[in-house]
Amino acid sequence: MEERNLICTACPMGCRLVVKMEGDQVLQIAGNRCRRGESFGRQEAIAPQRMVASTVRVLNGFHPLLPVYTKGTVPKKKIAEVLAEIRKVQIAAPVANKTVIIKNILGTGVDVVASRDMPAKA
Ligand code: SF4
Repeated sequence: MEERNLICTACPMGCRLVVKMEGDQVLQIAGNRCRRGESFGRQEAIAPQRMVASTVRVLNGFHPLLPVYTKGTVPKKKIAEVLAEIRKVQIAAPVANKTVIIKNILGTGVDVVASRDMPAKA
């Protein structure tokens, strides 16, 4: 049996979780103070997910880079590919906050969106 020690990041309490596993099977989760922690521990132990934040280049923008983020979590093992895909993008200003920059990135079902307005250069 394998034991993994994790910190739950589902809320600011940061409970210390102990996840007991047999192969890919979760047998027991301890240390969580609520059910969200149990879901987090199960997901994190089997297939960890993360939000990703980065920037894309902007043509004729007030700033040269536009901050973007994934609207949901993507598999942790795909983060490098997601960042590489984001780096390929160049967008023309103006861009409105929350504009979808990449739809369904790498077939994850998650969109990459702008995290601020980007006006064109005056
Ligand atoms: S187990 Fe519950 S209370 Fe503890 S950090 Fe996770 S979400 Fe917060």
